[in-house]
Amino acid sequence: LMIDHGIGSLPRRRARITPAAIALIQNDVSLTYAELAQRVDAVAAVLAGLGVLAGDRVAYLGPNDLATFEVLFATARIGAIFVPLNTRLAAEEIRYQLDDCVPAVLVLDPRVESLGVNALASAAVCPMLLRLDDAYEATAACQASHPSDAGYMADVTMQDPALIMYTSGTSGRAKGAVLTHGNITWNILTQLAHISMGTDDAVLCAAPLFHVLGLCQLTLPALYTGGKVVVMDSFHAAEFLAAISRHRATAFPLASTMLAMLRDHPDWDAADLSGVRFVVFGGSPVAGPVVQAWLDRQVEVLQGYGMTEASPGVLMAAPGGVREHTTSAGVPHYFTDVALLTADGKIVHGPGQGELLVKGPNIFSGYWRKPEATAATFVDGWYRSGDVVRVDEDGWAYVLDRLNAVIISGGENVYPAEVERVIGELDAVAECAVVPVQDRRWGEVAAAFVVLRPGQELDELTILRHLQSKLARYKIPKYVVFRTTLPRNATGKIQRLVLRDEARKLSA
Ligand code: ATP
Repeated sequence: LMIDHGIGSLPRRRARITPAAIALIQNDVSLTYAELAQRVDAVAAVLAGLGVLAGDRVAYLGPNDLATFEVLFATARIGAIFVPLNTRLAAEEIRYQLDDCVPAVLVLDPRVESLGVNALASAAVCPMLLRLDDAYEATAACQASHPSDAGYMADVTMQDPALIMYTSGTSGRAKGAVLTHGNITWNILTQLAHISMGTDDAVLCAAPLFHVLGLCQLTLPALYTGGKVVVMDSFHAAEFLAAISRHRATAFPLASTMLAMLRDHPDWDAADLSGVRFVVFGGSPVAGPVVQAWLDRQVEVLQGYGMTEASPGVLMAAPGGVREHTTSAGVPHYFTDVALLTADGKIVHGPGQGELLVKGPNIFSGYWRKPEATAATFVDGWYRSGDVVRVDEDGWAYVLDRLNAVIISGGENVYPAEVERVIGELDAVAECAVVPVQDRRWGEVAAAFVVLRPGQELDELTILRHLQSKLARYKIPKYVVFRTTLPRNATGKIQRLVLRDEARKLSA
């Protein structure tokens, strides 16, 4: 008897309870749980027919689609490992990841063929390329010929790897974080202890599914509890605001930057947000006024903090507590424990400041074939987040910045995120980023890149005056540069290395 406790069994298990409920919907296409379970079985049979075995990698390259979920579940069903690739990477970066994970098959959505993947796949150690349209022809044939053949199923346990997800690489070359079926399942459960979800929920997802925020946050919990997931292939503020009311969305995951982009869109005031129960956002810091704008619209906006290595949940604002802790990343998830590693190397619990350490059943088992990098991210069994965090008396955490982003000016630590938050308090500011610049006198000083909201004006002097009233002198940026946009990666994170290069020219 084959027992599948992995995430690949989710559609089938859910179909026993709510077979006729809609699981996934995109544009005019929708799938009930019963249909999803059937298609997952058929895709699994196609993969197994190609010779994919348990433990093999199945890479996937395509925009957000119902197929992303189908191939994820189908891969899990045969005990193979799903590797979603970032569609916005350059061909060279995709090739690096293919060479690193050595997939048995690369499933390719024809919409991304412009990336030159055909040539890449044959150059990389990837023997098979499966075009999605061909896969679906085979799937249909498979469904017709053996509708209930489950001979391809593997024994799957919670300890088996389900997913390799490449970290976004903002601080170096991307590493593949290996997440097990157990890691992903615990992350679903731990979120559900924090926020309630059920069959009436509709989660609108425009966050990329090749990143943990899109794939694992709210979407899998919604499918676990019989709600529906509305898939959007990309994020456009106007379309997203319109889709909220069209689909009666009750919840959605957003990158912090998307939260600000929606608030700043001309359609924001007219958008119908009355059915929205809550929004979970995170990935980078957010300014207080952005959170306040959502609270003013009676939407519970819950900041979450996490990372690929934690599948991703670590902290989340407790519902009801946001108004007193607007910029806090929240309290630990139910099954997650945190501690602080202080500058003098002590592990402390309770209030204080230091590098955030994390333990929990959702923490990854390591980087793909990188034992040294894996060992370096653990201390005494704690996962080292690389982020400096302050925990207050009530246990609410504030992310100050990444440890390696800290600017050391005249021997004092300047956290760019703190300076960014204070600049973000000015109403005219849409977004900003602070990076270090070499300085003869102070070693390093801060440079601020500022983007204004449409139609707003603000000069450097006003920004400096505001900063002087709030921050110590050594934290005040020596340079202020106005820009129309900030360089960002696919998950909305600021590409700080690009800005550092630009800042270098300021001091030259
Ligand atoms: P790489 O390490 O390759 O640069 P990455 O760290 O961007 O990739 P992710 O797992 O996407 O990969 O991001 C996790 C990081 O995002 C956290 O360590 C933290 O620095 C930042 N982050 C996540 N949530 C928040 C938040 N609410 N506030 C501030 N920073 C956040």
